[in-house]
Amino acid sequence: MNSLMDIWQEILHHLSSQLTPTAINTWFSDCEPVALEENCLVIRTPSEFKKSIISQRFSSIIISYLSDLFSCEFDLLILVGDEEYEKDSSGDDDDLPEMAGYTFDNFIVGNSNKFAHAAAISVAENPGKNYNPLFIYGNSGLGKTHLLWAIGHSIRERFPEKKISYIKGDDFTNEMVKSIKEGKTEEFRNKHRNVDLFLVDDIQFIAGKQSTQIEFFHTFNYIYEAGHQIVITSDRPPMEMSLLDDRLRTRFEGGLMADIAPPDLETRMAIARNKASRLGLFLPDDIIEYIASTITANVRQLEGVIKRLTAYKEILNSDITRASVDRAIEDVTKKGTDIPKPDNIIRETAKYYSLKPEDLKGNNRSKNTAMARQIAMYLMRQLTNLSLNDIGKELGRNHTTALSSIRKIEDLMRSDPDMTGVIRDITSNITTSSGSV
Ligand code: ADP
Ligand code: MG
Repeated sequence: MNSLMDIWQEILHHLSSQLTPTAINTWFSDCEPVALEENCLVIRTPSEFKKSIISQRFSSIIISYLSDLFSCEFDLLILVGDEEYEKDSSGDDDDLPEMAGYTFDNFIVGNSNKFAHAAAISVAENPGKNYNPLFIYGNSGLGKTHLLWAIGHSIRERFPEKKISYIKGDDFTNEMVKSIKEGKTEEFRNKHRNVDLFLVDDIQFIAGKQSTQIEFFHTFNYIYEAGHQIVITSDRPPMEMSLLDDRLRTRFEGGLMADIAPPDLETRMAIARNKASRLGLFLPDDIIEYIASTITANVRQLEGVIKRLTAYKEILNSDITRASVDRAIEDVTKKGTDIPKPDNIIRETAKYYSLKPEDLKGNNRSKNTAMARQIAMYLMRQLTNLSLNDIGKELGRNHTTALSSIRKIEDLMRSDPDMTGVIRDITSNITTSSGSV
């Protein structure tokens, strides 16, 4: 399966919902994808003229689509003719990828996040001194990763000699397993232990994975005892991570815990205004207020709406109206406010097939389990706003697997009426079971 090609197809599909077939044909028929890097898609078009049209008229919609898909900032690089693509080799282990925009300057402070923000500033000013570890927790889309990066950027700026390592909870597991397979555990340890700042995003993914937790425990102690700073984010507090090793829980709780709650209306308006102005979009106050009072629980969605409006404006070249705002909101929120939690989707899907949620997250490839896993991913795509990346992660998979699973179920639904019934039944179990919101 070629994930670059898949992603490109997805983009063309997305563009075709907004452009005429003639426009697609004119600008994209001879355009090809070249590479998909962590934060950048590289494409190739035959002429400078096409490049300039694509970059002026379509790049923002492509970028906003990719940013949404991967839940992080994305770039589009357009090559012309046989121009060579030089892979950016600056990404050494201790180099932070440029998470442009995730800085303290761009973080809007309100009641819901001011404690976490102040703690993050304090850690950035005095790494390893006051609060170690700093444990930031809160629901998805509320700015945890943003603060984590902001600490990284700020420390890199003021103490360029300090070594910084960033890792996501699930990548820690993957890297560790890989290093064991390749007999490179020593390298793995050196890479993560000999750092001044250890940024760990979404630690919840290591809970329940025994050998990962043991390794993480030793890594943690090593860095901690050296007096170096550790910052961790999680979607819930340590206390609520039922599968977390007790020793780790005690360590996490021994530092400073800071939660982020959904922002209030005033903060949401300030965030919407800030995002719009960064994208060069002017929105009147009543529109800002309308968006901020409709999207209440998730800053990522708020941002998604603004990005879509920017794209509409550029592509349709029209003013922003209530109708276009409604359309953007509907696009971003899908099923409105009643968004089920991924755990709930996994639980109900597993139950339907007489399996346990862990079976879906694990490696069992029996037909039944594989089917349940694919259905769970399909339902997450339908019922939530999670990106493919996040959907994959919920089940310990990557975005490519998520995409192919979703496609597979879509195909089955077209060819097999029973499948439609199964999906309907599970959906109804999800929406009626407790804790769906
Ligand atoms: P989390 O890691 O908690 O799921 P992120 O840090 O990825 O959330 O935030 C989601 C998006 O919302 C990011 O683009 C981030 O820049 C933005 N965001 C969240 N909180 C704020 C804030 N207080 N000010 C500005 N942008 C924010
Ligand atoms: Mg995050």
